[in-house]
Amino acid sequence: MKMNKYIVWVFVLIVFTVCSSQATPSRRVFILGIDGLDPTILEEFMDEELLPNFKALVKEGDMARLTTTMPPLSPVAWSTFITGLDSSGHGIFDFIHRDPVTYLPEFSIARSIPSDVSISLGSWVLPLKRASIKQLRKGTSFWEILEKQGVPTTIFRMPVNFPPNSPGYSLSGMGTPDLLGTQGGTFTLFTTSPPPQASRISGGRFYRVAVINNRLYLRLEGPDNPFRKETLSSLSKTNETHHRAKLGLDFKVFVDPKNPSAKLEVQGQEFVLQEGEWSDWILLEFEAIPYLVSVSATARFYLKQVQPDFELYVSPLQINPEDPAMQISTPNNWSKQLFQKLGHFYTQELPEDTKAFSAGVFSGKEFWEQSQFVYVEQMKALRHLLGRFQEGLLFFYFSSVDQGSHMLWRYFDPKHPAYVNDPGLQDSIKTLYREMDEALGLIREKLEKEDTLIVMSDHGFAPFYWQVNLNSWLLKNGYIHLKDPKKHNFPLFSNVDWSRTSAYSLGLNGIYINLKGREGQGIVLKGEDYKGLMSRLERDLMSMTDLRNGNFPVSFVRRKPRQLLENHGPDLIVGYRRGYRTSWESPLGGFTTEVFEDNHNAWSGDHSIDYRLVPGVLLSNRKIKISNPALYDLTVAVLDEFGVEKLPEMIGQDCLEDKD
Ligand SMILES: [Zn+2]
Repeated sequence: MKMNKYIVWVFVLIVFTVCSSQATPSRRVFILGIDGLDPTILEEFMDEELLPNFKALVKEGDMARLTTTMPPLSPVAWSTFITGLDSSGHGIFDFIHRDPVTYLPEFSIARSIPSDVSISLGSWVLPLKRASIKQLRKGTSFWEILEKQGVPTTIFRMPVNFPPNSPGYSLSGMGTPDLLGTQGGTFTLFTTSPPPQASRISGGRFYRVAVINNRLYLRLEGPDNPFRKETLSSLSKTNETHHRAKLGLDFKVFVDPKNPSAKLEVQGQEFVLQEGEWSDWILLEFEAIPYLVSVSATARFYLKQVQPDFELYVSPLQINPEDPAMQISTPNNWSKQLFQKLGHFYTQELPEDTKAFSAGVFSGKEFWEQSQFVYVEQMKALRHLLGRFQEGLLFFYFSSVDQGSHMLWRYFDPKHPAYVNDPGLQDSIKTLYREMDEALGLIREKLEKEDTLIVMSDHGFAPFYWQVNLNSWLLKNGYIHLKDPKKHNFPLFSNVDWSRTSAYSLGLNGIYINLKGREGQGIVLKGEDYKGLMSRLERDLMSMTDLRNGNFPVSFVRRKPRQLLENHGPDLIVGYRRGYRTSWESPLGGFTTEVFEDNHNAWSGDHSIDYRLVPGVLLSNRKIKISNPALYDLTVAVLDEFGVEKLPEMIGQDCLEDKD
């Protein structure tokens, strides 16, 4: 069809009039995502005049509590923000899901699929197809929708986006493993005296070493060698035990006999560390096939102690952004471009080494120092991204407030069973909030009035005083039966008699009914049996009593909707009162003699409780137009800022006023 010029002009005019009668879409939207930023703590510090930039933003725009998800866990909450859907839509219910057939825990964010096509050459196996990793979150992300409408997006370390999925720029965050494939990373400690329980400590590898003639010859182990037969056969589901062929690299340490320092020689890189000093990022190449294939990583070395015990910490092996062994960015080479601008940086999820701290390898001061490295790197990245931010959407994520509030809570809360009076750390959480204020200051400086600024968190925070072993409680109340009732300390439900067990707990807040036809050895029938059991459980949970102090630890239970019976999510989600959380053993099917115990772990703050008690926060330079905004409303608001309609399946509504 041909149109003459006049008709085209009329058409353009009509479109122009229609569009301009609505609000003009924003040129730039900046979202600052701060994991675990708590509205009450934020208000307290604002009242103390510690956060001038937050205060100015509230004055200019608005602030509200942001309703989080149940359970209020980061993977669940961020998935809801990303997709505008609840758990039944995006499929993420916890950090940990279970395989219904085996009752074994599985990581909820991503799953690796080994390559099944290979050829054998002696003891070598050459995979013809690369093993792949599948992201498990369902639904469409708001940045995919925006990119489709021509809005350029940059998504920096968004949680639950691994492997990263975006037509624009993105760097993956929570869910990204270290080179060993472990979540949260695995540190290494070379020490002349490993702790007695070293083999049972999760998140770290301990190697006993000896200093002979002031020298140490050490081997840093890498991931399994994907090219060796032993590795591939160990992936088979049989129970044969295989010795795994590991990649590794040898390095030398020369201890100074006079001073508390040492010289390290790692693959041709020489550096001297004083006791208590950290190295820069050191490049590591693990040879998989000599001279042909190597796997690249980076790590930082920390000489914790020279005398009387020698202790050398090596950070979790990072996927090298310059030469990533797994995809961590879109486009694939964006991590390399970032490296060229920023130098090396932590690429694993949540890089603050909470595990080294929990294991006693780090003191509070050492943890603080290490987490400040992360903050400094992230600020450098923020400056760089702000510098190149011309149009569209920029999302930037900080993990420091969440990780710090987990680990440093006990330093300022004298009511905590693990309270530590340490003047050096009592204000550390305050400092973390001030650092976020500093970041906000940079952002506000860069943005113009017509740009939209959103600051948001996925959930708030609460103290973690007391643990509840939900599985032990289910056992005491007759829902679980053991094969050998005299033995309690078995992980992964290994002592559970499934033929007499009606419900079990897995993950941080979930309870699953041992349903016939759905669970591997299910016994509970669908229909009346299931319904009756659910009601009884709800009643029992709500009246659960901690006899040590008379508290009722559970304040909320969410029941799975009937139509979702076959869905992989838990049948009941348990919400604790402030102060309580699930125990350390229960989430992976472990039992303890006592149901309730004090929490003496360095991990002393938490948020996996009743979602109504730990809302997140929303601040913006736009007014907030609905009274109880939720994470899924914010998704719609972000789209609306660019004049883009929400998808029909999205459950929220626009919560931000358009700019005038
Ligand atoms: Zn957290």
